[in-house]
Amino acid sequence: MSKPKLFIPGPINVSQRTYAAMNQTMIGHRGKDFEELYASIQPGLREIVKTTRPVYLSTSSAWGVMEACVRNLVQKKVLTLCCGAFSDKWFSVAKSCGKEAEKIQVEWGEAIDPEVVRAKLAEGGFDLVTVVHNETSTGVMNPIEDIVKVVKEFPGVLIAVDTVSSITAVPVETEALGIDVLLAGVQKAFALPPGISVFTLSEEAVKRAETTEGRGYYFDFLEFVKNGAKNNTPSTPAISLIWGLKDKVDEILEEGLEKRYARHETLNQMVKDWGAKYGFENFAPEGCQSKTLVTFANNLDIDVPAFIKAVRNKHNFLINGGYGKVKGSTFRISNMGDETVESMKELFAALDDVLPDFL
Ligand SMILES: *Cc1c(COP(=O)(O)O)cnc(C)c1O
Repeated sequence: MSKPKLFIPGPINVSQRTYAAMNQTMIGHRGKDFEELYASIQPGLREIVKTTRPVYLSTSSAWGVMEACVRNLVQKKVLTLCCGAFSDKWFSVAKSCGKEAEKIQVEWGEAIDPEVVRAKLAEGGFDLVTVVHNETSTGVMNPIEDIVKVVKEFPGVLIAVDTVSSITAVPVETEALGIDVLLAGVQKAFALPPGISVFTLSEEAVKRAETTEGRGYYFDFLEFVKNGAKNNTPSTPAISLIWGLKDKVDEILEEGLEKRYARHETLNQMVKDWGAKYGFENFAPEGCQSKTLVTFANNLDIDVPAFIKAVRNKHNFLINGGYGKVKGSTFRISNMGDETVESMKELFAALDDVLPDFL
C-alpha cells in the first residue's frame, strides 16, 4: 500500500517542491558554499520569526533545543507552564537535567492564565519560564503575548517559547515582545521533513548562557553564537534539510506572511465546521483554539482507531487518534503547512464517506 497523505499534526505532508529542493549534490559544511547557503536563509527566516537577530539552526528535533533552554539558561529555578503533553514534558526534562523546577499545571484542554503566572513569579526565585505556544496535543493556543508581557515584568526572568506547531501559521512578535528563545522543529508548521530546528536568542539569553555551567557541547548556545557569526553551525548540519528550508522560506515569503496566516485561519475554520456538522465538540475552549489543527473530543463515542484505519485503508489519508492520555478520547486533524481549500475538501470527502459507518 502506498504511504498515506498525512493530516496528522506532525510530521506533516511534504511537497514535491521541497523534496526537489533538497535533492542536491552534497557540499562540505566548512566551505564557502555552505556559508553562502547559511547566510542566504537568514533574512527570510528573520522576517518569518520577526526578529532582527540571528536565527540558529540545530541539527535535532525540537526537544534538543527545548532541553538546551534548560541547560543554558537555568541557574536558579525554571517555571514550566504545563497544559498538555509537550509542555508537561518540559518540566520532567528540566528535572532530568538536574535543574530546580516548578510548574503551573492546568487540565489538558485548558490554556495558561497569565494572572496565575504573575502570582507564581511574584513568589521569586525563578530565572526562566518555559511555555508552549500551541499545545499540539490538546489543540490549545496559549495567549502568548499576555504571558510574555507578564514575564517581562520580572527582571532576570527569561522566557523560552515553543512555536513548533504555530510559527509561519500565526504571527509571533519575537523581538517586539522580548521573547528570549523562540524555537521550532521544522516538521510541523514549516512542512519540512523532520531533523532540524530553528531558534533565536535574545542578548540577555546569550549573557545568561555565558555564566551558566554544565551547558555541554552539542547544545551549547555559545557554540551556536560563535559559529553563527561565521555563517556556520557547531557540528555537521543536515545540509539537505537546510536546502529544503531555504526553498521553504522563499516559498513562504512568495505566498506572503499575511496571506499565509489568513489561509491557515480559513482552513482551520473548515476543519471546525466539518466536526460541528456531526456534533463533535472542540477539545479546546472558545478563545484559545489553535489555528493549525483541531483536537476534537470524541463526544460521539466512535471507535477512533477503527475510524482512522478505515479512512486510511479506503482513501489513503491519515489523521491522528489523540496523543498521550487523551488518545482515543480525542482525535486530531492538522491544517498546517501547504494545505489548500481543495486539499482539505478532499480529506473531508473521505471522512464523510467513512464516518457514517461509525456513528
Ligand atoms: C512535536 C512537538 C514537539 C516535539 O518535537 P520533536 O520533534 O519530537 O522533538 C515539541 N513541542 C510541540 C508543541 C510539538 O508539537
